[in-house]
Amino acid sequence: MDYHADLMRDEKKIHSESHKALSQACRLLPGGVNSPVRAFGGVDLDPLFIASAAGSKIRDLDGNEYIDYVGSWGPMILGHAHPAVIETIHRAVDKGTSFGAPTVAETELAERIVGAFASIEKVRLVSSGTEAVMSAVRLARAFTGRDMIVKMVGCYHGHSDSFLVAAGSGVAERGTASSPGVPPALAELTVVVPYNDIDAVRAAFANHPGRIAAVLAEPIAANMGVVPPVEGYLETLRTLCDENETLLIFDEVISGFRVALGGAQERYGISSDLTCLGKIIGGGLPLAAFGGRAEIMDRLAPQGEVYQAGTLSGNPIATAAANATLEILAQPGSYDKLEASAAALEAGFADAAAQAGVPVTLNRVGSIMSCFFCDHPVRSFADVQATDIARFKRFFAEMLQHGVYLAPSAYEAMFVSLAHTQGDIEQTLDAARASFSQLQ
Ligand SMILES: *Cc1c(COP(=O)(O)O)cnc(C)c1O
Repeated sequence: MDYHADLMRDEKKIHSESHKALSQACRLLPGGVNSPVRAFGGVDLDPLFIASAAGSKIRDLDGNEYIDYVGSWGPMILGHAHPAVIETIHRAVDKGTSFGAPTVAETELAERIVGAFASIEKVRLVSSGTEAVMSAVRLARAFTGRDMIVKMVGCYHGHSDSFLVAAGSGVAERGTASSPGVPPALAELTVVVPYNDIDAVRAAFANHPGRIAAVLAEPIAANMGVVPPVEGYLETLRTLCDENETLLIFDEVISGFRVALGGAQERYGISSDLTCLGKIIGGGLPLAAFGGRAEIMDRLAPQGEVYQAGTLSGNPIATAAANATLEILAQPGSYDKLEASAAALEAGFADAAAQAGVPVTLNRVGSIMSCFFCDHPVRSFADVQATDIARFKRFFAEMLQHGVYLAPSAYEAMFVSLAHTQGDIEQTLDAARASFSQLQ
């Protein structure tokens, strides 16, 4: 299409330093990046290389500035380079970067997490969300003495083997590997069911009686765009797990400290047995955690026999950033402000799309939102796949031209931060009006 060639030409003009950096990176890094979605493959463009970021803005190598709604894929809920967080990091760095020995700051962070989540009595700190979920599932298997798990299509739980699994041939049957390198023997232990489909979970329990260690879910799906749980879904997951003596694991790596201090569990009033946290809790540094009832967590080594360890777990710099971030977030009014900014964005998007005659479905929970190009409700991965992805790509490119940096994939959420001002939102809506009008 012509528009695309035009945009690409403009792109090349203003992004020449990024293009140069990409070709150099590609010689040494597979695809030029260290995590696939950053490559902009989802929007058929080349990625921007980032020089710096502050508050709501991100700046590329060519000096272009954008209002950022990626927020490092969720962590930057206070905005980039928040002065109090940066100062705390500086102070921590001066005392040494890693000890491989316990520090009181780790206990302080554990207290904040336990204080925020009613279902968590004890936590283990790790370095990534992948590690948190992988370890939580090992613990659930050990605690229940079972080996199978249930996960939902379109929910992401990091890149460890047991979660890179697609649905098998029948409903609620054993899964198959979704990436080369994942052993079929492992994939078969994961049953994959559609999100928001409680009958499929019932079928999984019926097909594999006494075998399911854990049901693993993002309580608010946010890795296929934002897809909230339908009425009663989380409640019924809780009941089914209780009836089958299966652990319910909520992967709140995105929703934890995002949709409320106590995550989706607080928002919907449902407790999980184990909870995985990441992204926000590291304040932009590599830190994640999993936690739950003491009787389960105490099965972990050295208290118990379930092995889990990490050289950089509870790293002092990451822990300092985490404590500073969570302290600021816990101040009164944080979540009201996030809600208000995101609600204004949602209303403005709805209005701009309607003005332009472009059908959209806006899914939003607190400060995470998705704008799906379709005229049907979006409740599952199949619903997301039925949206107009080509239209999203064009919208993305238009918004970028207008100074707004959205996630470069139709399957990702928009993240609003406390640093987004009313002025940022207005500027974003100006860009949205201009961009929607190009889509007819
Ligand atoms: C990002 C994410 C993960 C993986 O976390 P990493 O830190 O990237 O390993 C796991 N679960 C969910 C829900 C996520 O969004």
